Amino acid sequence: MSEKKWVYLFHEIEEAVAVSNGDWELVRGLLGGKGANLADMERIGVPVPSGFTVTTEACNAYQPNKQFPDGLWDQMLNALKDVEMTTGKKFGGNENPLLVSCRSGAKFSMPGMMDTVLNIGLNDETASAMIKLTGNERFVYDSYRRLIQMFGSVVLEITDEAFEEVFDGYKKQKNIKADTDLTTEDLKYLTGEFKKVVLKEKGFDFPQDPFQQLKFATEAVFRSWMGKRAVDYRRATDIPDDLGTAVNIVTMVFGNMGWDSGTGVAFTRNPATGESKLYGDYLLNAQGEDVVAGIRNTDPVQKMSETMPEVYKQFLEIVAKLEKHYKDMQDVEFTIERGKLWMLQTRNGKRTARSAVRIAVEMVEEGLIDKPTAIKRVTPDQVDTLLHPQFDAKTKKKASDEGRFFCNGVNASPGAAVGQVYFDADTTERMHKEEHQDTIMVRPFTKPDDVHGMLASKGILTSEGGATSHAAVVARQFGVPCVVGASAVKIDLDKRLMTVGETIVREGEWISVDGTTGEVYIGKVDMNAPSLDEQTDLLKLLKWADEICATPGIRTPESAGYPTVGLQVWANADYPKDARRAREYGAKGIGLCRTEHMFFEPERLPSVQRMILAKTSEERTEALNELLPSQRSDFEGLFEAMDGLPVIIRLIDPPLHEFLPSADDLRDQIITKRVEDMANYLLGKGESKDVQKLEKLLSAVEGLHESNPMMGLRGIRLSIMMPEIVEMQVKAIMEAAANVALKGIHPKPEVMIPLTGHINELKVIQPRLIAIAKEVMDSKNIQFDYKFGTMIEIPRAAVTAGEIAGDAEFFSFGTNDLTQMTFGYSRDDAERSFLLKYVEDGILPKNPFQTIDRDGVGGLMKMAVERGRAVRPELEVGICGEHGGDPSSIEFCHMIGNNYVSCSPFRVPVARLAAAHAALKFAPK
Ligand code: ADP
Ligand code: MG
Ligand code: MG
Repeated sequence: MSEKKWVYLFHEIEEAVAVSNGDWELVRGLLGGKGANLADMERIGVPVPSGFTVTTEACNAYQPNKQFPDGLWDQMLNALKDVEMTTGKKFGGNENPLLVSCRSGAKFSMPGMMDTVLNIGLNDETASAMIKLTGNERFVYDSYRRLIQMFGSVVLEITDEAFEEVFDGYKKQKNIKADTDLTTEDLKYLTGEFKKVVLKEKGFDFPQDPFQQLKFATEAVFRSWMGKRAVDYRRATDIPDDLGTAVNIVTMVFGNMGWDSGTGVAFTRNPATGESKLYGDYLLNAQGEDVVAGIRNTDPVQKMSETMPEVYKQFLEIVAKLEKHYKDMQDVEFTIERGKLWMLQTRNGKRTARSAVRIAVEMVEEGLIDKPTAIKRVTPDQVDTLLHPQFDAKTKKKASDEGRFFCNGVNASPGAAVGQVYFDADTTERMHKEEHQDTIMVRPFTKPDDVHGMLASKGILTSEGGATSHAAVVARQFGVPCVVGASAVKIDLDKRLMTVGETIVREGEWISVDGTTGEVYIGKVDMNAPSLDEQTDLLKLLKWADEICATPGIRTPESAGYPTVGLQVWANADYPKDARRAREYGAKGIGLCRTEHMFFEPERLPSVQRMILAKTSEERTEALNELLPSQRSDFEGLFEAMDGLPVIIRLIDPPLHEFLPSADDLRDQIITKRVEDMANYLLGKGESKDVQKLEKLLSAVEGLHESNPMMGLRGIRLSIMMPEIVEMQVKAIMEAAANVALKGIHPKPEVMIPLTGHINELKVIQPRLIAIAKEVMDSKNIQFDYKFGTMIEIPRAAVTAGEIAGDAEFFSFGTNDLTQMTFGYSRDDAERSFLLKYVEDGILPKNPFQTIDRDGVGGLMKMAVERGRAVRPELEVGICGEHGGDPSSIEFCHMIGNNYVSCSPFRVPVARLAAAHAALKFAPK
C-alpha cells in the first residue's frame, strides 16, 4: 500500500498541483497559503531558502489523538535530508549546522494568530560549531537566546513574561537601551539565564536534541490551530475550523549577522490609502518578529536605497514581479543575510476599504486585472465603511481651538472613532459587551492576545510601533480606525492613565481618534457623513458594477419574462430630499414611498384626526380635501427629483390608531383637566370644554382598539372599509404627475396597494382607483404611463400570486411582514425575547429579519414570482424594506428573478456592489 504523502518539498510543487487537479485554491488548502506561495516563489525564480511543507491534512490527522499520523515523521526526516543536500549543511551537525524555522501557515492568513519557532537546531554543540564557522559569537548567542525564548513560550507554554522579566531586568541593571547594544557577553549570559527559566518553570532542561526540538515545535504549531487566539480569530473572520494549518520547515537565513544584515516587511502598495508606492519597514541587524513587534524604531524600506542600494534594486524587481504574478497587492517578508536578499513570505495584503477600492480601480487602469475581478475584490462591507461618518476639518479645528488636541501618531487605519479609553483588552471587551460603551483601546503596543479587545473597540491608539505593527495590521483588516506610534504619549498601566506633558487622560474618559490623519483629541469630536462625490475611485467602481448588472444575458432566462440583466438598485424615500440623495447615490427608482409619514407632520395631524373621527363620508372627504394639496406637493417634489425614473408610492398602510394619541395618555389628560376644572369651579370660574373633547377622542380611540393591530384593520382592508383615504391619495398622486408632466418632467408613478391577501380585495379597490387616474388625465388633458400593483407580504398572496397578477401590474415583496407571517413571529416580541438565542444556538442560521430565510420565506417569494410571471410575463418584481440592503438577500433576489431591490438611500452604493457580485457569481460561463 502506498503511504499517504504528508510532506512536500518546495520543489515538489508540481506534484501538489497535480493531486489538486490544477486548482490553485486546493493547493493553498493543502499546503496553506504561506507554504504554497513559498514553493510558487521558488518556482518563478525568486530567492527562497530551501524547505518543505507538512500538509494541513497532517494537522487534521494529528488533532483527534494528538499524535503524528503514520509515516509523517519519516517523511519529514527524508525531506530534511533533501534540504541538507541542497544547502550543504547538516541538521545537528558539528561543522556546518543546518538551522530551520518551524512556521504555521493556514489556507487563509491569520497574522500572528498561530506560532512560529526560529533557529531550531541550535544547542550547545551546534552553537560552538556556528561560532567557529561564522566567527560571530554575538550573533550565535543572539540566535540561541531567541530560540530558547520562542521554544519556551510556544512549545513549553512558559509565559513570555518569565523571559521578559529576566531580559528587561538585565537591560535595566546594565543601563542598556536597545537590544543591539547588548554585547556578546551579555547575550551569552542571557542564554544561560533563559535556560534556567526553562528549568525552573518546567523542571527539565531545554532540549538539546535538534530532532526533538523539530518534532515538538511541529506539534506545537498543530496545537496552536485549536488555541484560543486562533479560534477567536476564525470566528471573527468566518474561517472554518476544519481547514487545519500546514507547517513550513524553512532553512534559517539570518538578519542578525551584523550591520550588513537585516529583516523587514513591505506592502507593494499602501495598505491604508491604496497609493501605488512601496510601503514598509526594515531593521538592520535584527531577526524575524523584531519589525512587527515594534521593539526598535524601524526605517522605511525606501531608506535601503542608501544603506544597501544593490539589494534594494533587486528587492524592487522582485516585488514588482510578485505583484504581476499574483495580480494583487502583496505583503512580503524578507531577510538580508550579509548582503544577500531572501524572500520569506508573500501573500495578498490585507487592506482598508479605501485602499481596496483604489487598488482595484488602478489595477484595472494599469491593465493588470479586468473589471469583474476588480468588483469581486471589494466587499459590500467595505463600501459601507467608506460611507461611515468621518471627522471633518471644521469640527477638528473647533476642537483644537478649544485646546483639546492630544497627540499625533501614524495614521495606520483610517476612519473616525469616538469612545471611552481603556488600557487593556479584557476591560475594553467587558465595557463594550456588558456596558454597551463605545470604547477606545489604548496600549503601548498590541499582541495577538489583544485581538478580542481590538474587535470590541471603536478605535485603537498605541504609543509604540509603526505602520506594519500588529495593531496596524489587525486594525486595517477589521476596519477599526487606528493611530499607532504616538510616541509623545506616556501610558501608566498601573495608575490607569496616559499623559502628554501636563495633560492627563484617565481610564473611562472620552477621546476622539482620527485614523485618517493620525490625530487624537480629548473629548468628543463631531462626525459627518462623507460625500460620495469626492470618492472618485468608488464612483468608478460602482459605475462598473452597474454596467455589469445591465449586461444583457448576464442572467440566464428561466422562463418568459425572466429578466436577462442583473438587478437594479432602487431606494426607499419618503421625501424629495431623500429621493435626491438616493439618486446621487445611484438609485434607478424609488421602490417605496410611505405616504403615512406625510400624515404625521404637525400641521397636518389635526386634519388627519378629523378625518378619522368623521361621522359621515362627507365630513371625512372634507377633512381629506384639506390634506390633498400638501400630499400633491410632496409627490410633485418626488417626481421632479426622479424625473424619468419609476416612483412607487404605497397607499396608507398602518392602522388608524397610530395617528391618534394612546388611550392611556388621553385618560391621564382627562384626569388632569378635571382637577383643573374643579379648582376653577371653586374659584367661581366656568368649566372648560376641553374635557368633553378629550372624552370624545378617548371613546373614538377605544372604538378603534384592536387586540392585534398588526393583523387587524390596516392596508387594503382599511381602504375597503374607508375608501375615501386612498381615493384622495391617488388623486393627489395623479394630479402631481399631471402637473409636473405639464412642466416637461417625465413622471412614472406606480401606485402600490399594501397587504393584499385575496384577489377579491384588489378587485374591489383597484378599479375605483384606476378610474380616478383616468379622470385626472382627462381633466388635465395630459397622458403619462402609470402602473397599479401590490405588495406581496401575506403568505396567501404569494401562494395565489397567479390570480393576483391578473390585476396587479407589479409585485413588491414586503419581506418584513412576510417574514413575520411566514414564521408566525411578531418581530418586536421575537427580537426582544428568543430570536437572539435561536441564532446563537444555531436553531436559526441567521436573524430572518436581517437576511432572507431562503428556504421558507424565500420559497414563497420564488413561487410568487413564477406564478405571477406565468400569468403576466412582463410583471415587474422588486423588494422593499430592510432586506433590500442586505448582500445575501440581494443575491437571493437576483436568483429568483427580481427586477430590482429597494433599500435606504445610504445603502444604495452597498447594494449596487452586492448586485454586481450576484450577477457575476451566477453569470453563464
Ligand atoms: P507569521 O505568520 O506570524 O508572520 P512567520 O512564520 O512568517 O509567522 O514567521 C515569523 C517571522 O520570522 C517573520 O518575520 C519571518 O520572516 C521570520 N522567519 C520565518 N522563517 C524564517 C527563516 N527561515 N529565516 C529567517 N527568518 C524567518
Ligand atoms: Mg509574524
Ligand atoms: Mg509571516
